[in-house]
Amino acid sequence: MAYHRHRLGARERGDPAVNRARRVPVQAVRKSGCSLCPAQPGQPCQAQPAGDHLSRWLAAYQAGHISRDELARIFSELVVLTRFQVVPELGAA
Ligand SMILES: [Zn+2]
Repeated sequence: MAYHRHRLGARERGDPAVNRARRVPVQAVRKSGCSLCPAQPGQPCQAQPAGDHLSRWLAAYQAGHISRDELARIFSELVVLTRFQVVPELGAA
């Protein structure tokens, strides 16, 4: 069986161009308020740096506002997962 060395992808290297290209559907996630904090619809959970609680992303997925792929992409970028996780807005349109 061939052994493949893990090579860092552009995102893992923190390539700024990739981060800029990362399209985060934050508007869709913010259609509803957050169940964990007082953030109202249209507002981020955290102002600086802008981001939203992971549970808000899960709620947006369950409501059909974002796709499974979009949710999966967010999960793939987080190292430690809790529902209190704040997902940074990096590259948001
Ligand atoms: Zn929140």
